Amino acid sequence: MTMKTFKKIFPLRNALRIYRKKDKKISLVPTMGYLHDGHISLIKKARKETDVVVVSIFVNPTQFGPKEDYKRYPRNIKRDLTILKRGKVDFVFYPTASEMYRGKDVTKVVAGFSLRGGTIVEVPKMSKILCGFFRPVHFKGVTTVVAKLFNIIKPHFAYFGEKDYQQLIVIKKMVEDLNYDVKIRACPLIREKDGIALSSRNKYLSKQERKDALMLYSSLKKAKMLIKGGEKNPKVIIKKMREMISNKKSNKIDYIDIVHPETLEHVKGVKKGNMILMAVWVGKTRLIDNIRV
Ligand code: AMP
Repeated sequence: MTMKTFKKIFPLRNALRIYRKKDKKISLVPTMGYLHDGHISLIKKARKETDVVVVSIFVNPTQFGPKEDYKRYPRNIKRDLTILKRGKVDFVFYPTASEMYRGKDVTKVVAGFSLRGGTIVEVPKMSKILCGFFRPVHFKGVTTVVAKLFNIIKPHFAYFGEKDYQQLIVIKKMVEDLNYDVKIRACPLIREKDGIALSSRNKYLSKQERKDALMLYSSLKKAKMLIKGGEKNPKVIIKKMREMISNKKSNKIDYIDIVHPETLEHVKGVKKGNMILMAVWVGKTRLIDNIRV
């Protein structure tokens, strides 16, 4: 199929209806664009497992806090469309903010999630911990926009990266609680050769910051080594990680935690399958990373 692009909800829905009638399996890969190999790994998996692949590109204003990087978030739709064409994607949905939020004043939407009385989808408990503690509006913006995308596209499968581990778990919880008929597929975190987790935000890093950012993965590997060596106390492991990361001038830690992979609750003794999650500011860029124990 030649790739088709849509900015409007109504024609996209019409186009997809035909495939649903033919019993074709539809997948959705939601992204904020500025695509890299992390995104591409999700698309490849969707291409392999389903008949019709839909990729959405939408820098969602409601998931950014008023002082966050919504305005400066990297965008390059032309380049993205070339990549998606090469990836044999069938449909690209790249709406404007006013199409997604029905003309609501986007600047107001950005400023602390004011949808002027519009409906919000929220997974309250999980959205307030870890990244949610530091970014209070973030996850309700994510769940609201993903719920909207699910309702617009009605995919059978949706693909999310383990890079944003908390996001993946929050979305799984939303799907379960709201009985969405969508199977969530988790995809492994993709790194550059030197270990840095691929992220559109890496573009913000200076040469020095990029070097300092390598410490995130080094500390995760160190944690795994300590655990392999028999260490079970999360406090000891996290302390060592904090020391390593803080050793670099540009790094400032938001949090490092070791959690249960499904509940995201802090564990008292480290077990196989636990997740080590972190968010660290490298200069003015907030990076997240994680590893499974
Ligand atoms: P984003 O455009 O950053 O919102 O990401 C869109 C999707 O790609 C999310 O499901 C992310 O978890 C996933 N993703 C982003 N970076 C990576 C990566 N390095 N490895 C795997 N998945 C990723």
